[in-house]
Amino acid sequence: MSSIIQLLPDHVANQIAAGEVVQRPASVVKELLENAVDAKATDIKLIIKDAGKSLVQVIDNGVGMSITDSRLCFERHATSKIRQAEDLFSLHTKGFRGEALASIAAIAHVEMKTKQDQEELGTHIIIEGSKFVSQEPAVLPKGTSFAVKNLFFNIPARRNFLKSETVEQRHIVDEFQRVAMAHPNIHFTMYHNGSEMFNLPISNFRQRIVNIFSGKTNEKLVPVKEETEIVNLQGFVGKPEFSKKNRGEQFFFVNNRFIKSGYLHHAVMAAYEGLLKDGAQPSYFLYLDVPPHTIDINIHPTKTEIKFDDEHALYAILRSAIKHSLGQFNVAPVLDFDR
Ligand code: ADP
Ligand code: MG
Repeated sequence: MSSIIQLLPDHVANQIAAGEVVQRPASVVKELLENAVDAKATDIKLIIKDAGKSLVQVIDNGVGMSITDSRLCFERHATSKIRQAEDLFSLHTKGFRGEALASIAAIAHVEMKTKQDQEELGTHIIIEGSKFVSQEPAVLPKGTSFAVKNLFFNIPARRNFLKSETVEQRHIVDEFQRVAMAHPNIHFTMYHNGSEMFNLPISNFRQRIVNIFSGKTNEKLVPVKEETEIVNLQGFVGKPEFSKKNRGEQFFFVNNRFIKSGYLHHAVMAAYEGLLKDGAQPSYFLYLDVPPHTIDINIHPTKTEIKFDDEHALYAILRSAIKHSLGQFNVAPVLDFDR
């Protein structure tokens, strides 16, 4: 009897995987920025053209790649960050799936330049739709530059599905800000269509937040700090009188990774009980450091959701630490005379 099952060629498998990892230009921004952070860069530039539809480029001064690795990095499941399944529970890097570059190279035109510090020459690679076009030695500074052009050139349906430039640009800025907020020890700059949008010098968490969200943010921040065995919590919550109508300034970072958590958000809201008008949204910028073995990051391809071993304990700690901070800073309940 004949068989009808076939293994898909790599470029097809990559294109399918890309559907999960790369939804829009902002997904490319996130993956490239995280790779630059993992490469221990202290200076990262993001260059965007036409809201990422024509160009997303990230230039870093990190460790760079050897000639061999500069090809290998485009293979699926090729990673320098984990070796075995157990490593998933002692992660100290943003990446670990080894899928991003293979996915991006499957659906765009990619030009990569990379050089390691100790090497005389670097490598210049062009890869389009998973096909290597060229690889040449080149005189380069230390670090890596990734230019991603014509995203979704071979998937017209995906390209047409992209939203307006304003919307795509908003998503890009969101990703940029999240990574920048998590790493104030790195100098970040961002350019869109040739003009500088952000220039964030190396600083601390507070200053980084202020540099991103304007000087006015400084006066509304109340520091939060709590150290326990299961979490080292630090960060800032907004004074209730500065709360907003939308949830645009609410951030959780777990081990320097931006995450979304409805449950932890609820804990924060519980701490504000009685202090907010109906529907008002407080700002918060909360950094949780937890032992890597107590979380599972591998539950979602974009890694913005995390499973915690002890969610209930985190809830209680967050709520009480924030309540305490708000109390200490003499935040009085809102007296709402309109009611
Ligand atoms: P992951 O980040 O999950 O390992 P990627 O596909 O994003 O997977 O990257 C594959 C590999 O390429 C990384 O593990 C790393 O070794 C290398 N790499 C990617 N980007 C950079 C960079 N900017 N600098 C140095 N090495 C990089
Ligand atoms: Mg990566």
